[in-house]
Amino acid sequence: MTQPSASTQRASVSARLADIVGERHVLSRPSELLVYNSDGLPGYRRQPSIAVFPGSREETIAVVRLLAEEELPFVPRGAGTGLSGGALADDIIVVGLHRLKKILSLDIDNRRATVEPGVVNLRLNRHVAPLGLLYAPDPSSEAACTIGGNIAENAGGPHCLKYGVTLNHVHAMTVVLPSGEVVELGSRTGERDGYDLRGAFIGSEGCFGVALDVTVRLTPKPQTVRTLLADFTSVDDAARVTSAIIASGIVPAALEFMDGPTIRVVEDSIYAAGYPRDAEAVLLIELDGIEAGVDADLEVVRRICLDGGARNVKVARDDIERAKLWQGRKKAFGAMGRLAPHLIVQDAVIPRTKLPEILQTIHAISEKHGVLVCNVFHAGDGNLHPNIAYSADNAEESKRVHKAMTEIMNACIDAGGSITGEHGVGLDKMGYMESIFPASSLNAMCELRSVFDPGRRSNPGKVVPVHSCKEWHGVKSARETSAATVPPPLAAEPSRPVAQ
Ligand SMILES: Cc1cc2nc3c(=O)[nH]c(=O)nc-3n(C[C@H](O)[C@H](O)[C@H](O)COP(=O)(O)OP(=O)(O)OC[C@H]3O[C@@H](n4cnc5c(N)ncnc54)[C@H](O)[C@@H]3O)c2cc1C
Repeated sequence: MTQPSASTQRASVSARLADIVGERHVLSRPSELLVYNSDGLPGYRRQPSIAVFPGSREETIAVVRLLAEEELPFVPRGAGTGLSGGALADDIIVVGLHRLKKILSLDIDNRRATVEPGVVNLRLNRHVAPLGLLYAPDPSSEAACTIGGNIAENAGGPHCLKYGVTLNHVHAMTVVLPSGEVVELGSRTGERDGYDLRGAFIGSEGCFGVALDVTVRLTPKPQTVRTLLADFTSVDDAARVTSAIIASGIVPAALEFMDGPTIRVVEDSIYAAGYPRDAEAVLLIELDGIEAGVDADLEVVRRICLDGGARNVKVARDDIERAKLWQGRKKAFGAMGRLAPHLIVQDAVIPRTKLPEILQTIHAISEKHGVLVCNVFHAGDGNLHPNIAYSADNAEESKRVHKAMTEIMNACIDAGGSITGEHGVGLDKMGYMESIFPASSLNAMCELRSVFDPGRRSNPGKVVPVHSCKEWHGVKSARETSAATVPPPLAAEPSRPVAQ
């Protein structure tokens, strides 16, 4: 008997998906699917075959069960703001969760909310703000990214320095496994003994199934907030002051760093925040807590900044000024769109005390390759975000950018750092995994994945290079193999997947 052609099979699966979610919530024309061929890191392109958008929990379960029956791979997708090439794959079915956007319940006494995965982070915060509560993880993409995407990436954000990342703010979730089985991870009511499967799912980058609902922890809003902007004529001074503030024992709610090129691109944009254009670095520092304590801390921090070489320390006078200072920081990536059509952002973590050296190294690498690096990052926890704006249509420039970024990442690893602080591994960091994990750890990750997804159908080809799994053995140094493992992320042409 002849096998059905790929297009016949696609048409049949599309029709069955349409029976579940309705015809208008299934896309299969290449032009309609263009939007889903990349995430926030546009250098990676993958062409899905179908995108399906369930409108309820029941529809999502039915979709996943159909895909299990057909043994088809799929990628869960929230808002597509990811910065590691995570929510994309070739010839795959995208399961878009953005229609699942209900806040299902609020338990104010116990400070908990249960939400669907497509709820946008900022919407949850706006919903609970009148109750004097907040959901602490605040990625700079908060106006667009979803709680489901935040869970999958274990997202951070400026205020995670004091409050902790997504992992610290999730009690429980319901997940539909790739087999179609529905499981509860964690506990909605209190701590349970046993292995922390909730913790295993958080940060699993869509490889362990689809989160259907999430019960999050809500935090009381602080009584008082003070926001300071310290500006420096030396990057080095700003880096040293960062360490000095943490060494003083004060834990700011946020401690963010922007260098001169970032300051100027923000000030040229509609997000201009009033940062001094002639500064070579600014620190945006937020202190919160009880009024008397915060004011005492403010004086200590101001003194550390001035003693460390700050030219000026400005304190926001009101909420409007505070919001403006934050707008420049949170929209800095967007402002870089002025420089060139494509942007690559990295997400390395280094020991905070190594900041001055690493920033000097990044500068030297940028000069060597003739690229402009804009640094804007969560300095308090040593989470760097070097950005390079470039044109992916220019092959020679793309090559230089790729070399510069690879050297920057390797310098961070050599400094005792890691390859991702919050954006995840996705496709982008996979080539570095063997640099920071021994083969035994990579094998353990593969085996853990098999517990949730033995067929490796949920977001295949991400996080751990397939040849690192035991059955493929022969792990080599990623430096030798990264080019073969992950294609340069900067090509304008769509590239093929790395591993299935
Ligand atoms: C301008 C800008 C600023 C950013 N700032 C920050 C920041 O400060 N901190 C930070 O951590 N990140 C930041 N990011 C990265 C990004 O916003 C986060 O990684 C975010 O968590 C992604 O959410 P999303 O809904 O867009 O997910 P997507 O990009 O759609 O998906 C990301 C991953 O989650 C998986 N996924 C999505 N939904 C589900 C689900 N329901 N169940 C299982 N898996 C799922 C996908 O398969 C994919 O692997 C920024 C991005 C941009 C563009």
